[in-house]
Amino acid sequence: MRISLKLSRIQPSATLAINAKAQELKAQGKPVISLAVGEPDSPTPEHVKQAARQALDDNFTRYTPVPGIPELRDAVGGYFGRFYGVTPPREAVIVSNGGKQVLYNLFTALLNPGEQVLIPAPYWVSYPDMVLLAGGEPVAVPTEPEDDFLVSVEALEKARTPLTRALVLNSPSNPTGCCYSKAQLDAIMEWAVGRGIFVISDEIYDQLVYPPAERLSVVHWWERHPEKVAVVNGLAKSFAMTGWRIGYCVAHPDLIKAQSKIQGQSTSNVCSFAQKGAVAALTGSFDCVEQMRQGFERRRNLAMEIVSSWEGVKCPNPGGAFYLFPDVSARFNAQTPDSASLCKRILEEALVALVPGSAFGDDRCLRFSYAVSDETLLKALEAVGKVLKG
Ligand code: GLU
Repeated sequence: MRISLKLSRIQPSATLAINAKAQELKAQGKPVISLAVGEPDSPTPEHVKQAARQALDDNFTRYTPVPGIPELRDAVGGYFGRFYGVTPPREAVIVSNGGKQVLYNLFTALLNPGEQVLIPAPYWVSYPDMVLLAGGEPVAVPTEPEDDFLVSVEALEKARTPLTRALVLNSPSNPTGCCYSKAQLDAIMEWAVGRGIFVISDEIYDQLVYPPAERLSVVHWWERHPEKVAVVNGLAKSFAMTGWRIGYCVAHPDLIKAQSKIQGQSTSNVCSFAQKGAVAALTGSFDCVEQMRQGFERRRNLAMEIVSSWEGVKCPNPGGAFYLFPDVSARFNAQTPDSASLCKRILEEALVALVPGSAFGDDRCLRFSYAVSDETLLKALEAVGKVLKG
């Protein structure tokens, strides 16, 4: 089969591939525990489901405007007003099929062939491949576990070239869970904006932060420099709505129009009744989000206690999201010399699915998602600990 050359450098999504593998083993009757995919374990809150059901009953089942129904675009603006004191107008908002489509559309709309995008590593699996698909060049900027995997202005400056067009920020981070402080974020924003580097801030985990980490957004930077910043978020992680595919973006109205043009020629609108559910989520009570946040914080503490007791393993204490990203390279040996082979061994011997750090641009580490019950988490970590000791 002849496949386009533009796919030659693109990898399948590792997170989704490993999740599929774990499901396959489960279907064969193997008691595999998956700590692989980043997905909340709770159901979508009842009032959100009810709003979508009502929309179906009301036959709200036709095409909607491509960038989203007006009330949802306004609800997105309202979300930023409620939590961050800046309310972007409707024309500065688009709703897409998950944060993933927002990002894909953004890269496509922003990049000319060969333009570079700085991506602090470890990074979420899909950023580099999306940049490649959009004709750009991803440039990984490595970080260290000792620095909580946070990138410095100095490292960014070193990686900057005349072809640098954009920078991707992701705080709290997938895969590390680490968060920038306000001062660190502001320093990076000032650097980028001052050099005309466009910042794409992926804030999909903004609601899932554990003190002293703070809930932060760069939306006030967007307000001051609308041509240089785009803020990306969605409902998947905060409202346990991964399957609904609701992502959104705040950007300059011209960029929103460009994203809308791409979306109009590819997927059209996001599912009509899912949008109604999203309105209910964004305009309703966030008590359910707070409950989930507290549950994740408890599991973060449980998991950290165990992982930090593993000899030779280095793991920063993450301030957000639901991942641990320990550096396990001290446990590599001749049979398992890298993260992929160690993950394979853990899957075979401990029956626990993890994602190798290589998928996130750091082969020293493994990603654990702790979005599972306390009991499952403890069982999985005990089994992984045994393999690492062995
Ligand atoms: N973002 C989640 C993860 O990293 C979901 C899977 C994906 O879309 O890659 O596991």
